[in-house]
Amino acid sequence: MDLAALLLPALIPSWSSVVLLGTFFAYLAAAGSILPGKVVPGAALPDGSRLRYRCNGSVSLLLLVALLGLGAWMDFLRPTIIAERGLELLSMTFTFSTLVTLVLYAAGCNSTSDSSSLKPHLSGNLIHDLWFGIQLNPQFIGIDLKFFFVRAGMMGWLLINLSVLARSVQDGNLSLSMILYQLFCVLYILDYFVYEEYMTSTWDIIAERLGFMLVFGDVVWIPFTFSIQGWWLLRNNVELTTTAAIANCFVFLIGYMVFRGANKQKHVFKRSPKALIWGQPPKVVGGKLLASGYWGIARHCNYLGDLLLALSFSLPCGLSSPVPYFYPIYLLILLIWRERRDEARCAEKYREIWAEYCRLVPWRIFPYFY
Ligand code: NDP
Repeated sequence: MDLAALLLPALIPSWSSVVLLGTFFAYLAAAGSILPGKVVPGAALPDGSRLRYRCNGSVSLLLLVALLGLGAWMDFLRPTIIAERGLELLSMTFTFSTLVTLVLYAAGCNSTSDSSSLKPHLSGNLIHDLWFGIQLNPQFIGIDLKFFFVRAGMMGWLLINLSVLARSVQDGNLSLSMILYQLFCVLYILDYFVYEEYMTSTWDIIAERLGFMLVFGDVVWIPFTFSIQGWWLLRNNVELTTTAAIANCFVFLIGYMVFRGANKQKHVFKRSPKALIWGQPPKVVGGKLLASGYWGIARHCNYLGDLLLALSFSLPCGLSSPVPYFYPIYLLILLIWRERRDEARCAEKYREIWAEYCRLVPWRIFPYFY
């Protein structure tokens, strides 16, 4: 009862939170449309068309952080503001994603387009259609919303982390654990934007329609749950030994190498199927599927890398509580589910070529285990 009385008022958004979020989205829309960046053609859609993505996420992010730093230096805004208003921002982004889902559904139902991007796919089950969405690539004022929301989520995660870091410095309890957690996340997020063009060939972009699952996942789930370790470290003290810290760095580095290496190999292979993999000509099944490099070790080695990275974000918190392990546990469940759905899609798309690939590479994610 006391907890509810404490939490409920904190969940009600104030006007300053509305302005904060509105400014963030307006900035992202403007920066995404104006700032320079490589324009990358997306995967071919079933009707043969391709969308074009302006990959200027890293410039947009660096400018945003610079502007926020300037704002803080000029005493225009407090760096700790997000850490102070976490719950109301959470409830606001949740409300926002619900409203966006309803608008997407209504707009999709009224779409008369026959293009693969905009044709509505209605299953007749309202809950299913709201959850998974009905259009592949809905747009608003020329902005690809799927690309926009995932960018908002990744940048939001970094902004939450930076604010939590500022709070930790302000409270005088900056620890090695907090530094490691922040460092790994900042490298991961920066890397995401440096290689933003690789996103254009991922499952979310090429296969998933835009509904509550993705909107909520991008603007609420990613920033607020991936940052749990930071929030947790604000209230809990962990004494990391040097050995534990070094081991933690190794988990991060190996995870990064596998994650980035696998995603890069697939991306390069799709663009230039003859490009060398680890200095050797690629081994290809049926002219379409890469079966060497990381893709010859397990069919989703990129998921293995991501899981190691997720683990490395939580290890700085020690082993005293399961709470900071929320992200790796969630990711394990998500990626196993996703891998099953992706395999079903690939089996249908590639048929005997896929069966041959599975014979050549029997492991799904973890070599010799799964
Ligand atoms: P993938 O990037 O693995 O994309 C799967 C697609 O790649 C398949 O549908 C198929 O598409 C193609 N493909 C599969 N195997 C091969 C092969 N051997 N050779 C050539 N093409 C192949 O999956 P995701 O989009 O799910 O993931 C991308 C990254 O994002 C991963 O690293 C993942 O860990 C990460 N991720 C992170 C999440 C998080 O919450 N942190 C959530 C989800 C993903 P096609 O039909 O084009 O051939």
